[in-house]
Amino acid sequence: MTKPFAITLDPGSSLANHTGSWRTLRPEYLDRLPPCNHACPAGENIQGWLFHAESGDYEAAWRSLVQNNPLPAVMGRVCYHPCETSCNRTHLDSAVGINSVERFLGDEALKRGWKLDAPAKATGKKVLVVGAGPSGLSAAYHLARFGHKVTIHEAGPLAGGMMRFGIPKYRLPRDVLDGEVKRILDLGVTLELNRKVDDVMESMKAGGFDAVFLAVGAHIAKRAYIPAGEAAKILDAVQVLRGMEGEEKPLLGRRVVVYGGGNTAIDVARTAKRLGADRGDDRLPPHAREDAGARLRGAGGAGRGHPHQVALDDQAGGRGLDHRREDGTRRQGRAAAHGQDGDA
Ligand SMILES: Cc1cc2nc3c(=O)[nH]c(=O)nc-3n(C[C@H](O)[C@H](O)[C@H](O)COP(=O)(O)OP(=O)(O)OC[C@H]3O[C@@H](n4cnc5c(N)ncnc54)[C@H](O)[C@@H]3O)c2cc1C
Ligand code: SF4
Repeated sequence: MTKPFAITLDPGSSLANHTGSWRTLRPEYLDRLPPCNHACPAGENIQGWLFHAESGDYEAAWRSLVQNNPLPAVMGRVCYHPCETSCNRTHLDSAVGINSVERFLGDEALKRGWKLDAPAKATGKKVLVVGAGPSGLSAAYHLARFGHKVTIHEAGPLAGGMMRFGIPKYRLPRDVLDGEVKRILDLGVTLELNRKVDDVMESMKAGGFDAVFLAVGAHIAKRAYIPAGEAAKILDAVQVLRGMEGEEKPLLGRRVVVYGGGNTAIDVARTAKRLGADRGDDRLPPHAREDAGARLRGAGGAGRGHPHQVALDDQAGGRGLDHRREDGTRRQGRAAAHGQDGDA
């Protein structure tokens, strides 16, 4: 009879058949980001700065935070805080209020005039950044900290990109934005306004730049085709919000329909209310907090559906909105004055 394999081995050894106490698997320790850090688009070391904040050393907390993100007072106001959505504590009670602490630290830094650390030594390299939105400003900040000489060419009259020409003032006060932009410029970054770059290679050659970072954003709104003929003026959201930064505010009329259900639609509905519209109407519920804010200010929601057509209503002498509900049924009314596109 053939002996079973195991008992043919030398006593004291089971190496060949991997039984007994021989280890075939070994734990491997990997450094991974905690869920909040992992979810943060700015790559912040949230545990790092929260530790200092909890210890009461707010300046150390802010200095830790700005290692990654130079705009905490801005982000503390406008970030949709995916970090909190991912927070482990949501399974226990509720998420840590990361966004609020970030805002507090950002405001504290502006109030106390904390400055960013200047780079230790210059590299002698010159970098051109095209666009002074959050992307260009952050790139300029990190490049300056590496010791490079940075120049930003911005096509617009002011820095900030969509933070200034998209996000309304009531959500992001301009002194907060200006304060955080100035702190980046104080690192020695040169900002040239009204300086549109049409030919990147030409601009690099003219300025003797070693590298270029393009941060031109995406300024074109999504368009929805709603037949309107001569009946109604349809504006896109970005156009309206941009107009709020100029001397002459957009003329929207008293009754406004907002077509779209994202945060931009809510921004426009709230803006319309502030411009005197007696009813702002949006189609779908966006972020709960935004929605609640908008409703507080009196901008109602029309429910699901989409505008089918905007037409002149001769009898009534005004404009009519032919609105198609999700179930395909139609609702006609005189509500339409202007429609807005959704998120840009
Ligand atoms: C209405 C609205 C509300 C928003 N609300 C939020 C929010 O609450 N929270 C949030 O996180 N995000 C929000 N966003 C999105 C956020 O604003 C954008 O994701 C962000 O601004 C993109 O940054 P950016 O630097 O890539 O581009 P932008 O902010 O668009 O900046 C690009 C800059 O480049 C300049 N530029 C373009 N072409 C040239 C050129 N050829 N030469 C020189 N300069 C040029 C532009 O003038 C502009 O200043 C919102 C956007 C909109 C439209
Ligand atoms: S709130 Fe701050 S920490 Fe949270 S995701 Fe946004 S930028 Fe990151």
